[in-house]
Amino acid sequence: MDMNLNIGVIKGDGIGPEIVTEAMKVLDRTAEVYGHTCGYTQLLLGGASIDVHGVPLTDETIAEAKRCEAVLMGSIGGDAKTSPWYQLEPSKRPEAGLLAIRKALNLFANLRPAILYDELKGACPLKEEITEGGFDLMIMRELTGGLYFGERKTVEENGVLTAYDSLTYNEHEIRRIAKRAFDIAMKRGKKVTSVDKANVLDSSRLWRKVVEEVAKDYPEVTLEHMLVDNCAMQLVKNPKQFDVVLTENMFGDILSDEASMVTGSIGMLASASLNETKFGLYEPSGGSAPDIAGKGIANPIATILSAAMMLRYSFDLDKEADAIETAVARVLKEGYRTIDIMSEGKTQAGTAKMGDLIASYIA
Ligand code: NAD
Repeated sequence: MDMNLNIGVIKGDGIGPEIVTEAMKVLDRTAEVYGHTCGYTQLLLGGASIDVHGVPLTDETIAEAKRCEAVLMGSIGGDAKTSPWYQLEPSKRPEAGLLAIRKALNLFANLRPAILYDELKGACPLKEEITEGGFDLMIMRELTGGLYFGERKTVEENGVLTAYDSLTYNEHEIRRIAKRAFDIAMKRGKKVTSVDKANVLDSSRLWRKVVEEVAKDYPEVTLEHMLVDNCAMQLVKNPKQFDVVLTENMFGDILSDEASMVTGSIGMLASASLNETKFGLYEPSGGSAPDIAGKGIANPIATILSAAMMLRYSFDLDKEADAIETAVARVLKEGYRTIDIMSEGKTQAGTAKMGDLIASYIA
């Protein structure tokens, strides 16, 4: 069925405009091959919004984003030492816009795939016997609850300074993310590893109970539970065992960084933040890389793979998403590399060349 995709685009700051342009090129080509059309609404966020409106996010941008079916974003922010944006008070700086838009759109689930392509395994710090054949896992992190959003205080008790942070989850918060994790597993390897610390924490025991309830609605998906300390070890010992790793906010913060490190380059890491509807915000995991902005050398692959995730999870266009991922794998196989993933004997390509090649391989 031909579709008209209503996509919000935040090009952002630094390398943002360069990498998003390439992702749009690939999206347009994919739409052309598969008989869809892409309608884009340009949205301003971060430094680009400060330059025009004086604030990193406006109510109009939020309203416009809500009218889109999904938003594709580059990256936000500048060089904190030299950019005038950082002369502003913290609530007016570029990154404040990012936090505010995530909140306004109720994005409670963060997805970060960690894929090791066989061609890039040289960048992986793990032993070859562990990485042989590559791996492909997805960390799903709860983003709006838990320790980072719980009540906190520091008080003096009997002359001793004491700090409190509370870790709270209710069953609704757990259920909604667990459902998303199982939905996503259904589109992948049909396995969910739910990570907790149920041998110690009440919040983890509730997490485990609710995840088990949700699992009953997904008989095709295998569920396993793993303690977070064991998961941290397993990610470097045997990452191939994982498909979807579902976990709460703080554990996910740590494990997603660990998982991305074992893949190698930041320029390859896609991500998505989802809410209860099909809507999602899709962006590369890296920042705006002001050190290389405007040079035409940034790696656009993370953004292109984020666009593929958008097709898969917001539009249910799995074939089209597969086509983009296959095109990325082909470019790597043929030896093209941006500077960040360059190695001896390979062909160096700039941002636009990489986008052109990937777009031309969409089939
Ligand atoms: P960064 O990710 O921008 O850069 C770290 C290093 O990785 C740099 O050397 C950079 O050149 C390189 N790099 C990043 N993306 C690349 C790509 N696509 N291709 C090739 N090389 C790439 O992190 P940073 O320097 O700590 O932060 C720079 C700015 O980005 C800051 O303002 C920070 O707040 C912001 N930031 C934004 C986001 C976001 O928009 N979600 C995330 C992280 C950081």
